[in-house]
Amino acid sequence: MSDQSVKPFLPAANPSTWLGVMGGGQLGRMFAQAAQAMGYKVAVLEPSADCPAGQVAEHLVEAAYTDAAGLDALAAQCAAVTTEFENVPADSLSRLAQQVFVAPNAHGVSVAQDRIAEKSFFVACADKSGVMPAPHKVITSAEDVDAIAADVADELLPGILKTVRMGYDGKGQVRVRSREDVRAAWESMGKVTCLLEKMLPLAYEVSVLTARGHDGASVVYPIAENVHRDGILFTTTVPGPNVSPECARKAQDAARAIVAELGYVGVLCIEFFVLADGSLVVNEMAPRPHNSGHYTIDACVTSQFAQQVRAMARLPLGDVRQHSPSVMLNILGDVWFDGDSTTPREPAWDRVLALPGANLHLYGKDDPRRGRKMGHVTFVAPTLLEAQRQFEAACAILGIAP
Ligand code: ATP
Ligand code: MG
Repeated sequence: MSDQSVKPFLPAANPSTWLGVMGGGQLGRMFAQAAQAMGYKVAVLEPSADCPAGQVAEHLVEAAYTDAAGLDALAAQCAAVTTEFENVPADSLSRLAQQVFVAPNAHGVSVAQDRIAEKSFFVACADKSGVMPAPHKVITSAEDVDAIAADVADELLPGILKTVRMGYDGKGQVRVRSREDVRAAWESMGKVTCLLEKMLPLAYEVSVLTARGHDGASVVYPIAENVHRDGILFTTTVPGPNVSPECARKAQDAARAIVAELGYVGVLCIEFFVLADGSLVVNEMAPRPHNSGHYTIDACVTSQFAQQVRAMARLPLGDVRQHSPSVMLNILGDVWFDGDSTTPREPAWDRVLALPGANLHLYGKDDPRRGRKMGHVTFVAPTLLEAQRQFEAACAILGIAP
């Protein structure tokens, strides 16, 4: 693969160039749409036939993420493969990598999918990134729980107990105030390996989207300010109303250092906490396009999905310039329900789309449930104030408290 390893995978008409994606969710769907816009054909590997990405891809390999025959079929069809969610088994990516170019690779994904490996990595590169993670401790046994000081004098209490693997949207997390809380929470999680993290007084939260090419060149998007509700991303505002130029510079420098240190190829999103004194704490990273980067579709020259296509196809990375201030509102299944009603009805999308600068993205999910990500709307405008006004108007239409 020596010669092949430096050539880009250009779109082609006949025969077509195929790009593959592990996972069939909305991130895979938006990736497929970006790849298709550039002239690629897309194959998705996903166990369930009716999935957001499968609805738009030219081919669906219906197989488990660990299925050898499925992985080999994807590899045989595609010039390069990427992933749309971080819990793809690293072994599956390694198997694919023996046959095709895979970006991001198994190493980057395996660090991001394990909170212990991720925190250790952040600590190890703190001298280069300039940021540390929250104080934390690994809990693997009842003895580890016993070792926590009995009262709230323990430096990690009050804290959050997080499962080490498979956490997302605040799932697999319990807030704890005492050693007894930790014990009960750990037992309720089935005594799996967890991380006890100190609860920090957050002033606000930000994320930085970055991408690195196979040649080591990297780009960093504008810093995004995120508001979460019930552990799920609610809005992303760019430029962030609270973000100082110094905070933006520090977070972007940290992101650049982290993506380089990881030897990563592809789009990587890094989440940070900003504390009341303005200091920055690195929270976690996602080895893929991220919900807080959806604004780039409508507000930047190159969307995060088009950027992923470029990185995995070994093309030059695209311009990350933001051309319009934006507010991205996540659309959860809740907006299909009036009050406590259990019967869904369609939201008034016509009224939302009548708002200036509104861009609606729905993910093709036909079963709205409370707390389920169904889509998002990005409001772009000449000024942030105007985008925020339209966002508030949409909240009123959809019955969401702004
Ligand atoms: P994601 O949806 O981003 O994958 P996740 O479930 O993996 O989320 P985290 O990002 O670790 O979990 O936490 C979710 C949210 O909980 C954070 O965005 C933040 O609002 C809050 N949170 C997490 N850890 C802490 C902490 N140590 N101190 C204060 N708040 C925290
Ligand atoms: Mg998070």
